[in-house]
Amino acid sequence: MLSLQIPFWSMVLGIASVQIGIVLIILTFDSLIRKRNKPLTEDYKTVNCLICRSSQFVPKYQKTIICDTCMARIAVGFKATAMVVFALITVTTMTVLVGQNQELRRRAAEIEKVYQCIAGQWSPDSCGCGVWQENTICTEGRSRLCRDGDSYCCLWQENIWVCYTSNVDK
Ligand SMILES: [Zn+2]
Repeated sequence: MLSLQIPFWSMVLGIASVQIGIVLIILTFDSLIRKRNKPLTEDYKTVNCLICRSSQFVPKYQKTIICDTCMARIAVGFKATAMVVFALITVTTMTVLVGQNQELRRRAAEIEKVYQCIAGQWSPDSCGCGVWQENTICTEGRSRLCRDGDSYCCLWQENIWVCYTSNVDK
C-alpha cells in the first residue's frame, strides 16, 4: 500500500496495515506468554536453556531450548518494543497528515486570494467570486473563471449577473 502512489490513501491505508501487523505480532506474543504448560511425554531428556543455562526437560528429538521464562522475557521485551514502534508510527503519521492538511489549506487560501468577489446578485452564486478572463470563447458576455473552477460566460441582465458555462454558450 505504501509503495502505491495514491495521494493520501496509500499513506493512510499503508500505515494502517503496518499497525495492524504490529498489533497481530503483539497478540501472538501475548498468547505465547500465556502458553506455559506443555504436555509431558515419557521420552524426554534435559537440555540447558540457550540463554540462562538452566536445565529444562525436553522431548528426545529436541536439541536446543529456550526456557519458558526466557521466552516470556523476550516476548515481553519485544512487545514493549512493538508498542513503542506503534506509538512512533502513530505520532509520525499524525504529524505528516496534519502537515499535509495545513499545506492544502495554505494553497486553498492562496487560490482564494486570486479570486475577486463582486457584490450583487449572481447566477450561479459561485460566480460572485472569480477572475475575469480574456474573452476568447464567449459569443456574448464576458468570460469568467468562477470559484467552482469552471469557466462561464457572464451577462449583465437588468440587476443580476447571469453566467452560462462556456460549453453551453458555444
Ligand atoms: Zn532460560
